Amino acid sequence: MNVSVVLFTSDLRLHDHPALRAATEARQVVPLFVRDRGVADAGFAAPNRLAFLADCLRDLDAGLRERGGRLVVRSGDVVDEVCKVAAETDADEVHLAADVSGYARLRERRLRHALEAEGRRLHVHETVTTAVAPGAVTPASSGHFAVFTPYFRHWSGLPLRDPLAAPRAVRVPDGVGSEELPTRAGVPGLSPDLATGGESTGRKQLARWLRDGVATYEDRHDDLAGDATSRLSPHLHFGTLSPVELVHRARRADGPGAEAFVRQLAWRDFHRQVLADRPAAATTDYRTKHDRWRSERTAREDIAAWKEGRTGYPLIDAAMRQLRHEGWMHNRGRLLTASFLTKTLYVDWRVGARHFLDLLVDGDVANNQLNWQWMAGTGTDTRPNRVLNPVTQAKRHDPDGAYVRRWVPELAGLEGPAVHEPWKLRGLDRAVLDDYPDPIVDLAEGLARFRKGRAGE
Ligand code: FAD
Repeated sequence: MNVSVVLFTSDLRLHDHPALRAATEARQVVPLFVRDRGVADAGFAAPNRLAFLADCLRDLDAGLRERGGRLVVRSGDVVDEVCKVAAETDADEVHLAADVSGYARLRERRLRHALEAEGRRLHVHETVTTAVAPGAVTPASSGHFAVFTPYFRHWSGLPLRDPLAAPRAVRVPDGVGSEELPTRAGVPGLSPDLATGGESTGRKQLARWLRDGVATYEDRHDDLAGDATSRLSPHLHFGTLSPVELVHRARRADGPGAEAFVRQLAWRDFHRQVLADRPAAATTDYRTKHDRWRSERTAREDIAAWKEGRTGYPLIDAAMRQLRHEGWMHNRGRLLTASFLTKTLYVDWRVGARHFLDLLVDGDVANNQLNWQWMAGTGTDTRPNRVLNPVTQAKRHDPDGAYVRRWVPELAGLEGPAVHEPWKLRGLDRAVLDDYPDPIVDLAEGLARFRKGRAGE
């Protein structure tokens, strides 16, 4: 019988998986995951993501076993390992999900070249890692949309393919060797409250979200203390949930909350179609503003205070501590901490993006780098010089101060919105504030420095 290899990458699921479905039809299949040395060498193997990944691989293996198969795990260079497995099993084709980063695209080219040299075919499947394929809609004059609103209009009008059921049976050829599956127990330096990975968990979380959460999404998505977003981002990053299936199911949920949620899923595709066309935007300004960022040496203490959540601005500190504790941060926190670093402290967006990638369980080249650029004003934002004020934003999105009190225990004794401006209480209640720093920067001075730097003065 003919044999196919399915190389899993950011698509660690059985449901709605076009590559797996294509491979399992009337064939034996090797479901393969390669612990790719290249990913670690690129500095992308952060502990929180490695642990979540280990959960995902175990869950995928369990699901395959229920269907008569199993997951084959190898380590090394991804192209070498795929070629070895294909040769061992005499597979004539390999299936892979299309992906957008420069690394993923180079992997695809190298794989095609190596497989073709051995007389095997590579099949690349679109709409596994996105709802709409990058390049499915483009403006007349460019390979991608640079503005979200027209992109969203086109995106919304495109027909989506139907979601696919998980395969009923998976037949793996006898005798294919596999390493032991990794476990999260072996990963040092994890965030204490890190989410659990795996398709089973992701599907339960999605069902709960559609039943209990999405209806109020439009009103509550910026409520920091309410924590009323889906938290599905790590599942989308690792592909334990299918973006196509998510859009279909959210659309069926109906109502303004579901519409607002689908719009966020379109933002994910938006950044992917930018990166697919401009892979360099992962590391270089998408639209340079000729910034003369403060050097990392000059700003060293400010960067350290930002990372540790000790800037003296309670909301910034709360969000940075949430990041460290959970490996995840609320979107409003991400916007505020990114604005604070790049504009108020005038530090290069790449410094912040790196720190986020070191900790975020959903850390994702397209979403992280392009959102950082968006907030730094070097990306696709049509108002690149906007600066978010951490105090007014705190009063708006954490009006009672509950989010700050949750994450900054030094301030837990302060009541109500006073928690957002602890310096105003200096001298009144010194004891409460002893452990909490004064602001590391005056907001007006920070703003003036940013404007001057950006204007090139
Ligand atoms: P929900 O609000 O429930 O949204 C549902 C899904 O829509 C998310 O899971 C995500 O896949 C997508 N989405 C939501 N907002 C955005 C957005 N602005 N851009 C693109 N997709 C979006 N998201 C990541 O997945 N990985 C990252 O590394 C990442 N880094 C970010 C860095 C900065 C500086 C900023 C401002 C945003 C970043 N985001 C990133 C986007 C967003 O903050 C997260 O996707 C969101 O907070 C995840 O929580 P959720 O799943 O509850 O989102």
